[in-house]
Amino acid sequence: MQKRDILSLNLEELTEAVTALGQPKYRAGQIYRWLHVKKVSDFSEMLDLPAVLRAQLDVEFCLKRLFIARRLESCMDNTVKYLYRLSDGQHVETVLMSYQHGWRLCISTQVGCKMGCQFCASTIAGYVRNLTPAEMLLQIDETERDAGVTISGIVLMGIGEPLDNYENVIRFLELLSDPKGRQMSLRHVTLSTCGIVPKIRELADSVTGLTLAVSLHNPTDAGRNAIMPVNRRYPLSELMEACRYYFSVTGRRVTYEYAVMQGENDSEADAKALADLLKGQQVHVNLIPVNSVKERSYHATRKAAQAFMQRLERHGVHATVRRTLGSDIEAACGQLRHEADRKRE
Ligand code: SAH
Repeated sequence: MQKRDILSLNLEELTEAVTALGQPKYRAGQIYRWLHVKKVSDFSEMLDLPAVLRAQLDVEFCLKRLFIARRLESCMDNTVKYLYRLSDGQHVETVLMSYQHGWRLCISTQVGCKMGCQFCASTIAGYVRNLTPAEMLLQIDETERDAGVTISGIVLMGIGEPLDNYENVIRFLELLSDPKGRQMSLRHVTLSTCGIVPKIRELADSVTGLTLAVSLHNPTDAGRNAIMPVNRRYPLSELMEACRYYFSVTGRRVTYEYAVMQGENDSEADAKALADLLKGQQVHVNLIPVNSVKERSYHATRKAAQAFMQRLERHGVHATVRRTLGSDIEAACGQLRHEADRKRE
């Protein structure tokens, strides 16, 4: 029998499992606090439980850990990038960044990715599997332990497409924000998607406070089809409708991510098309000079991104050029995992 992953259970499921072991209900609350408030990494640390129960938990459940396979510290800013090895030997990346209000963590949601965006390193070696809710939480816990910091903001912008691992991501958000546990307001959490339309709508109906970021990267269907296969399934008109729906239900302004690729998506016509596309929405556009990936030819300077920002501003679209953190340590999506896989081969 496979042991159940205890960190992925919500309090209700944990209570059911603990009472099934013949234990009183309140024990579940104790265990839940050890897992989600004290964030222990072993059953033996649950000091107010009888030894017999701790042993029983060890038989019935698993409490996994992540191992640091590589740790890269930027010498330009406080960014730290972790390559974590999961219990089955797969790798994911997690990036710790400092920002004005504290520490923010960029976490992965899948091993690899199916989405096939042309400019992204995460997709080159394909998709392996979904991360469990526990593996998403553990990226936070292990990083806090290693770096000795408290993380106050999370972005789901690492490897993987969060809305392609919908159930586990929703459970992760539930556990992260549970008032009886980790208590992080979802106002401090951003989920980034390449645009899986039905799941954006489902998300709007299911969570409150969460910021939605949509990776746009091109303002026309023809241009977007060429670099993001997801657009052939969910074209821009449907995507924009879903974003308007997200705003109308949640009251949260959608953020658009736009990786500037020189000569590909930064012309005057692109700026005008982007302004037309977003007309009527209260939006913010985050521009980022595309990170060059060895296998791909896209490139952009910071200056090019700033020039595109000015074009957008002239069309009345509010945009900023995002800080590129940790550029000396390959902090862009999926590059480190891809390198590790190549070396293994
Ligand atoms: N799958 C999700 C989240 C992971 S990618 C999504 O698509 O939004 C996080 C962000 O990094 C996305 O906006 C993605 O488009 C962007 N990105 C990926 N590769 C990049 C690169 N080489 N340069 C700049 N941004 C990149």
